[in-house]
Amino acid sequence: MLETIARQPSPSMVTERCVRHGVLTFDIEEWFQVENLRAVFPRAGWDERPRRAADGTRVVLDLLESHGVRATFFVLGWVAERDPELVREIVARGHEVACHGHGHVLPMQLTEQEFRDDLTRSRQALEDISGTPVIGYRAPSFSISERHLKILAEYGFRYDSSFHPFALHRRYGRLAHLGARLRPGVYRTDDGLIELALPVERFGAAAFPVSGGGYFRVLPAPLFRRLVARALVRDGHYVMYLHSWEFDPAQPRVRGAKLAARFRHYHNLVRTLPRMQRLIPLLKDLGTRFVTASDFVGGVLARQRAAHGR
Ligand SMILES: [Zn+2]
Repeated sequence: MLETIARQPSPSMVTERCVRHGVLTFDIEEWFQVENLRAVFPRAGWDERPRRAADGTRVVLDLLESHGVRATFFVLGWVAERDPELVREIVARGHEVACHGHGHVLPMQLTEQEFRDDLTRSRQALEDISGTPVIGYRAPSFSISERHLKILAEYGFRYDSSFHPFALHRRYGRLAHLGARLRPGVYRTDDGLIELALPVERFGAAAFPVSGGGYFRVLPAPLFRRLVARALVRDGHYVMYLHSWEFDPAQPRVRGAKLAARFRHYHNLVRTLPRMQRLIPLLKDLGTRFVTASDFVGGVLARQRAAHGR
């Protein structure tokens, strides 16, 4: 079936040219902080590990600069406190800094007070270091619920991008009620928070997460590009995520984690950068204008207001 999809004609690059938006997002965290390797790297030992997130992030910054593209970086508070220069560089190079929490604990595993503390500490650190307001949030492992969205709105966040509607992944949160649908994959909750969902492409009974991460490295590249183009042309925008450590193929390999977890983390790391170098021009050929998540959300809201005469 994969070959069938890959052979389908490309969406037209001429007749369908119009303004489309690309929202590239990067979760900035250390290679030893990911959930897949949790059993190998308990939190107590994090400060003894060599940090590599800054170098991986600079690969991303150079990639974006070479294509003249702006993006959003969801930075972990733990990383920001140890590499403040990196946060300032992200802003200085024209990008948005947003919040990925502090300690990379899944919100669904935190008490409400712990979640509030994690949120407050990380956002404060990011705002103090960057000198800019932080209005966006992404939960570690997309672990989110309506309860957390309420708290984000209460704390003055303007948008969240933690809803990944891929039902096969056991860690991802489930949201039954996302509020008003403003456009495909973009919702406004009853509290006014904007939810920017990650795209999943459906083909018959099959679902393909085309938002990035491990799927970007595991799915055949031509198939991934084809599905992304389809989502972009249909929805008028495309949201993607990758991690800083996915641009670091030389990171230490560790044993001890389960085989599936090791596969998800390490497979095709060497392909992340070259695949992005092909994907960005493809999206540009389809008329994509790359914007930060906050600018995209601002644009959606402005069009809503204009449409309703407010
Ligand atoms: Zn993360």
